[in-house]
Amino acid sequence: MSGYSLRRIVLACGLAAFSFSAVAEPSMVVVPEPPLAVAAKTSCPGNPDALGTSRTLTVETSALPRIGTMQYRATLPLNDHEVVLTFDDGPLPPYSNRILATLASECVKATYFMVGTMARAYPDTVRKIYNAGHSIGTHSQHHPFSLGDLGLARITSEVNGGIASVQNAVGDARAVAPFFRIPGLARSNQAESYLASQHLSVWSADEVADDWHRGITPSQIVRKAMSRIEAHGHRGVLLLHDIHPATAMALPMLLKELKAKGYKIVHAVPAGKRPETVPERPATMVAERSGWPRLAPAKTAENTTEHAAAQPKRHSARLSARLAAALEKKKSKTQTADVFSFSSLFIPRQN
Ligand SMILES: [Zn+2]
Repeated sequence: MSGYSLRRIVLACGLAAFSFSAVAEPSMVVVPEPPLAVAAKTSCPGNPDALGTSRTLTVETSALPRIGTMQYRATLPLNDHEVVLTFDDGPLPPYSNRILATLASECVKATYFMVGTMARAYPDTVRKIYNAGHSIGTHSQHHPFSLGDLGLARITSEVNGGIASVQNAVGDARAVAPFFRIPGLARSNQAESYLASQHLSVWSADEVADDWHRGITPSQIVRKAMSRIEAHGHRGVLLLHDIHPATAMALPMLLKELKAKGYKIVHAVPAGKRPETVPERPATMVAERSGWPRLAPAKTAENTTEHAAAQPKRHSARLSARLAAALEKKKSKTQTADVFSFSSLFIPRQN
C-alpha cells in the first residue's frame, strides 16, 4: 500500500492524530484505538449511560403544516424506535425545573409548547429552557379549551398574544419556533385555516400519557406512554405536560425504560436560523423577581465557598419534599389553578 493511499484512508476516517511516519510499510500499520476521548466529549458529560439525543429533525412548516396521527394523517418522519418528546402548558417552576434537570442529565432535547401567560409569569424559566437547547413553540395566550369554536377575532388574539408573550419572555423573537399546539387539541377548520395563514405548523401528537388526569401515578404515566408508543409502530410524538408533579416524577423512569427498550430521542427543530442562546439575568435578579426558588443569601463572613455552595443543594432537597404540598395549596389561589383544571379537561378532537 502506498503512503498516499494510506494517507487518504486515514484522512477519510477522520483520525487526524494518526502518525503517518509510523505507517510507511503495511507491516508496521498499527490499528489505532477508537477515538474514545472524542466520543466521551460528544456524548453526555457525567453520564456515559445517558439516553442522549440521536438526531435533529428540521421541521419545515410548508412541508408539515399538521403533525400528529391522533388527529391528522401526517406526522413527523420518524424511524422505527424514534420518539419526540413534547411538553405543554408551562413553564411552571419548580416542575419545569425538575423536568429540565432530568432532560439535562440524560442529554435529551425536547419541544415545548408554552402558554403566553405562563411565559409572562416565569420568563427566566423560559430562557433557561431555551438555553438548555430545547425548542419552544406556543400554545395560545390563555389556554382556552374552546379555541376551535371561538370567533376569528379571539382565535387571532389567542394565537398572536401567546406568540408575543413567549417571544417577549425569551427576549428574542427568532428563538420561538413556528410550532403551535391547539389547547386541549380542540381543533376546528377555522382555527387550522388561521394557523396555516400564519405559516404555523399545527402540532397534535401521536401519543399521550394521560398525565393531566388527577390522581394518576408516575408509574401509570410511564406504562401508558410505553404501551401506546409500542402500539403505534414503536415511534411517535409523545405529548406530556411540564406543570404536573407526576410527570416530573415519571420522566426519569420513562427515559430509563425508553433506553432499555432500544428507543432513541429525536429533537424537532424549526427550519431557519435561531440564536444559539439568549441572555439570562444574574441569579440574584432572578431570585428577587421570580420569588421561587428563594436562594438563601450569604450573610456572614463565616460562609465559606463550600458552605455557600451547599445552600442551594440543601434547599433543593427540602424543595423535593415540599413540592406537591406547596403547589397543591397554591393552585387553588392562583392562575396556576386555571392551567391545572384546563388540563384535566383535555379531550382531543379528531379531524
Ligand atoms: Zn395544554
